[in-house]
Amino acid sequence: MIGGKVPVQPARRVAQRRPAYIAQAVSYVIDGVILFAYAGIGVTTVTTGLVYLTLRLAVIGIAFFLSEARVTDRLRDHYLFVPLSLVSITIQIGAIYLVPQIGFYFIAIIFVALGFGALRMSALQTGIVWAYATLGLAVLFLMTDRPIGIPMADATERALALACFVSTLARCAGAGLYGSSMRELLYRRSNDLAAANARIEELAQLDELTGAYNRRYIMKCLGDEIARIQSGAHGCIALIDLDHFKRINDRFGHPVGDDVLRRFASAILANIRMVDKLGRYGGEEFLLVLPDTNVDQAMQIVERLRGVIAAIDWLSISPDLALTLSAGLSEIASNDTPEDLLARADLALYRAKDAGRNRVLAAAQWRRFG
Ligand code: GH3
Ligand code: MG
Ligand code: MG
Repeated sequence: MIGGKVPVQPARRVAQRRPAYIAQAVSYVIDGVILFAYAGIGVTTVTTGLVYLTLRLAVIGIAFFLSEARVTDRLRDHYLFVPLSLVSITIQIGAIYLVPQIGFYFIAIIFVALGFGALRMSALQTGIVWAYATLGLAVLFLMTDRPIGIPMADATERALALACFVSTLARCAGAGLYGSSMRELLYRRSNDLAAANARIEELAQLDELTGAYNRRYIMKCLGDEIARIQSGAHGCIALIDLDHFKRINDRFGHPVGDDVLRRFASAILANIRMVDKLGRYGGEEFLLVLPDTNVDQAMQIVERLRGVIAAIDWLSISPDLALTLSAGLSEIASNDTPEDLLARADLALYRAKDAGRNRVLAAAQWRRFG
């Protein structure tokens, strides 16, 4: 698909979301361990840890289930980061209110939730979640008189507070790393996409059988070349037609005919300059655009190509097979339309055929001698 949004396969989306949910579940288990440790030293109760952990795992479990069932695939926020962040903040605010003696830890977790969520949320969504957290904290700070504590009474409490901060910092850093891995993935995807687009563009310009440009593209090149001539440059075209090609098909079969066309085009392509352009104009007729070339030089070039084609070991394709070409040249004039130019080259080609084939004639030359 060019330009539009690239559809992500549903199975891949499910797989993409899985690590995000697992990371959150691991984070809640860390919270649970810390809460149980606080219960162990009598700062909170085991019930606090149990309720908190159950609630958090239940919420992420539901999100995980919806993700696995592909219910959320159609949503823009298919990770459910907005509702998950809102629920998370609600739980933290509730926890701060109910267990204020370790309120600092629940506040720290809000940082993790918002930092992690913002990686996948739009600016508006992040703003909404931030506003919600602000509101919750404002209610808590301004409308209640609960002291929000950091237990620091002894070495164990200080060590636990340290563990809270360190594990929170690690999770914030993890969220940052997740963000940069997403950016890297995006960068690689956009590179792949650019390469695929370039390939599609290239294929859209090429003739499938011969690898020369297709008619549409060579006509565009011709138009470009005429425009260039109008600003004072020189250029020629050659209409090249294979001689008695019908006989080759009739005698050796169509597949051999195709093979001959392929070999012919690759031989020409291998023997022209980078700036020259070869396109398949019709069945066994090719248009060669030669920039910065006057008619004498074009004559030499196409005569050389005629020699190259005649020298190919056609017998290796089929015994008795031989191939020659006839060509009509025309120098591009500044007031030419593509039709005028092609008509002159076609007339020269017709004369070359008429004169016995296997030769190159220039339109001007024909006019001069005709
Ligand atoms: P002349 O020397 O006057 O050009 O004779 P010719 O036989 O080459 O010319 P004619 O126009 O009578 O025949 C062209 C043949 O090219 C007929 C057609 O079947 C064949 N041809 C066109 N495209 C293809 C193709 O893609 N593959 C094959 N195998 N043959 C093709
Ligand atoms: Mg022919
Ligand atoms: Mg022909």
